[in-house]
Amino acid sequence: MTIKLYNTLTRQKETFEPLEPGKVKMYVCGPTVYNYIHIGNARPAIVYDTVRRYLEYKGYDVNFVSNFTDIDDKLIKAANELGEDVPTIANRFIDAYFDDVTALGCKRANMHPRVTENIDLIVDFIQALIDKGYAYEAGGDVYYKTREFEGYGKLSHQSIEELRLGNRIDVGEKKQDALDFVLWKSAKEGEISWESPWGEGRPGWHIECSAMAKKYLGDTIDIHAGGQDLTFPHHENEIAQSEAVTGKIFSKYWMHNGYININNEKMSKSLGNFVLVHDIIKEINPQIVRFFMLSVHYRHPINFSQDLLESTKNAFERITTSYVNLQHRKNSSTNLTENNDEWLNKIKEFRVQFEKEMDDDFNTANAISVLFDLAKQANYYIQEQNTSEEVITAFLDELDKLGDVLGIKFATNQLLDEEIEEMIQQRIQARKERNFALSDEIRDKLKDLNIILEDTPQGTRWKRS
Ligand SMILES: [Zn+2]
Repeated sequence: MTIKLYNTLTRQKETFEPLEPGKVKMYVCGPTVYNYIHIGNARPAIVYDTVRRYLEYKGYDVNFVSNFTDIDDKLIKAANELGEDVPTIANRFIDAYFDDVTALGCKRANMHPRVTENIDLIVDFIQALIDKGYAYEAGGDVYYKTREFEGYGKLSHQSIEELRLGNRIDVGEKKQDALDFVLWKSAKEGEISWESPWGEGRPGWHIECSAMAKKYLGDTIDIHAGGQDLTFPHHENEIAQSEAVTGKIFSKYWMHNGYININNEKMSKSLGNFVLVHDIIKEINPQIVRFFMLSVHYRHPINFSQDLLESTKNAFERITTSYVNLQHRKNSSTNLTENNDEWLNKIKEFRVQFEKEMDDDFNTANAISVLFDLAKQANYYIQEQNTSEEVITAFLDELDKLGDVLGIKFATNQLLDEEIEEMIQQRIQARKERNFALSDEIRDKLKDLNIILEDTPQGTRWKRS
């Protein structure tokens, strides 16, 4: 089956056909690294990691690039407030970003380019726009001449006249037209800056993605993705910049994920309802946060609340309980072959259904329902008096494999606190009996399940890694 995905550019579901058969070039706009990421930032990280995983599952070779904005007004402000320099802050929050999204089950991109490592590239890109008549210098700044680009507004489906009405030139701005946007900003006194043909300064925000996508993926990419709020102006401006320079289509498909509300309100600093990933994953298994995000279709809004998170936790545990029960039952299974084919075929059908849902614009919400049905069937099966190891293994493999497409491991999160405590007691006993082989085995087993033990003079402590 082929994949269909909703393309913001055409506003319809289209059959996915990459430029080069079997290969996918994908670019996702990354975070501005001036703070810990909030759950609104976690959504695109999880959604597009899942898109990538599914494309890989279908056999595509995916080249996935996601940038870090490590210089902009927010970083300069944070540096001033904290009395630190911009690179120190950026490095700290890039590390924190990796910690958070790794906990959420996201794989690293093939490349995570940073703006400050690509300044020359960006300067060259801006110069190319000036040379082609799409940009102009004004008092040390450089602006994009929006009216020169014919397709302006095509992604957000707005006419240039409409857009012009909604924008005005603020006092002190040097641009010629309200819709023109900045490509290079001249440095203010004491600000971090780089040399350029237009004097000391730094890049505007939009230009980095055009320059880095071109460098790392080429003139035309297959999928460009990000949050819905990036459609305009960020992605619209990226198209204007890239297509003006290359004369080619910038991205064949554009994907945008929906917003996250907190208790039915928009998340905002002023409302004080900012939920940081860093905080939430201390309270709740990050896999449940991921499961929660994927239980809603990526284009729909999500309402984030403790109640919903709690019900997701219960739902998630229904599957993990089935998984654990299957594992237990595996030990007492036989080589029974009666009805095996019937069950094995039934299990295969779940995979067909799962793929059908994912092929339909990555419908993870419905794909998760398929996993619930699969777990339900497993529960029926293990109630039988005799079970076959082959069928039990097939159930477990299927849950592993389909879970992995969603970046979710049912296997490693099944341990309850009491079970961990019990294993620690067994290890203490083994050590008393000087059975160090068993003691090490228990430690390794826990390590595989992301439980780290620490032996202290007061006894053994443990934590989830
Ligand atoms: Zn971008």
